[in-house]
Amino acid sequence: STNPLPLFPGSDASSLARAQAPIKLIRPGPILFDNSSGGADAIKNALRLSPDGVVKEITKARLRGRGGAGFPTGLKWRLCRQAQAEARYVVCNADEGEPGTFKDRALLTLAPGLVLDGMAIAAHALGARQGVIYLRGEYACLEARLTQEIDRRRRYGLLGTDICGVEGFDFDIRIQLGAGAYICGEESALIESLEGKRGAPRDRPPFPTDRGYLGCPTAVDNVETFACASRIMERGAAWFCSFGTAESAGTKLLSVSGDCAHPGVYELPFGTTLNELLDLVGAPDARFVQVGGPSGQCVGPKDYGRRIAYEDLSTGGSVMAFGPERDVLATALQFTEFFADESCGWCVPCRVGTTLLRQDLEKILRRRGTLSDVTALDGLARSVARTSRCGLGQSAPNPILSTMRNFPEAYEALLQAQDFLPRFLLSETLI
Ligand code: SF4
Repeated sequence: STNPLPLFPGSDASSLARAQAPIKLIRPGPILFDNSSGGADAIKNALRLSPDGVVKEITKARLRGRGGAGFPTGLKWRLCRQAQAEARYVVCNADEGEPGTFKDRALLTLAPGLVLDGMAIAAHALGARQGVIYLRGEYACLEARLTQEIDRRRRYGLLGTDICGVEGFDFDIRIQLGAGAYICGEESALIESLEGKRGAPRDRPPFPTDRGYLGCPTAVDNVETFACASRIMERGAAWFCSFGTAESAGTKLLSVSGDCAHPGVYELPFGTTLNELLDLVGAPDARFVQVGGPSGQCVGPKDYGRRIAYEDLSTGGSVMAFGPERDVLATALQFTEFFADESCGWCVPCRVGTTLLRQDLEKILRRRGTLSDVTALDGLARSVARTSRCGLGQSAPNPILSTMRNFPEAYEALLQAQDFLPRFLLSETLI
């Protein structure tokens, strides 16, 4: 019989269908999708180094977290290794919930071995014996494939006991499914969920590298970060750094969607400009682009010369193109609604603030707003960003703040007639 209920709270049939639709890998990239088989070389090379040697190589490669925050991976592993504890854990954050992001699904589908090897390398560096893949609930369809790959690696001695014949190097991986909450992509909420509790962020400090899963030092890294670590061990830090920019080494997987001729997953070196990307994906007439998902920035043509890099336009992997007929504020409203829905409700600025942001923006969109409503919305957005407890609330006002910064004319066009002001005045008010 068919089950009429959604499988996960907050999920409906269409979001599941979207999460499970086939993905198109557009271009084999130079690092992660280079069509080579990968294999045991990465782990064997890592085992030739001491744990400190592995941390040094990852640091030398200037690897930074690929989930969006960009924290230096070598430093995270070092902090975790230095923390005194009986046990340490390696956690792969595969809770890919940012709207418009599907690049981790591509990796887990097309190159799961790279991710598993990266976790084993982290285990050697940290002295961990257990790893967990926290898999987004809507990606349950990937569980069987991943389990198969884990079993295969156990058979080949790349997971389990005495890995690669090294006595005492024991490490294994289990998979745990999320339940559809966006907030569980935040590392401390993810750890709470892993422990069987409600997925709510923790106060920090202590940081997970000191006290994470089950109170032990834990390195939580994105799927793509582990895959990069694996390639660094296979081919070396110098080779990895030959791609990208001075501050952003390597490549970035980009999930490109929206009004473009060739949506899909692209692997491109950091430093690629938005213009180059839009040409590549067939969206030369994009009116605006959302870089980094709803929590990122909405930019217009004047920013298309900027580069995808941590030091310029940073993204965890999502790029959404919007064509000439799209309404930039209607899109910002949808993103704001998303945050109001996904707020975990713990702190007032985010729980109440995201709902007020939605209501106030809606009022402006209905042409019932005045200039003072727009300035009040700006003030509210800034205080929600400043006072919220975790990254969700801190970035929830971004759709409003970035459209105010980059598209003041869109707000101006909606103001009631009596409040009409010359554009330069409104722009100055907002900026
Ligand atoms: Fe929860 Fe939002 Fe507060 Fe984060 S900012 S703790 S998601 S209510």
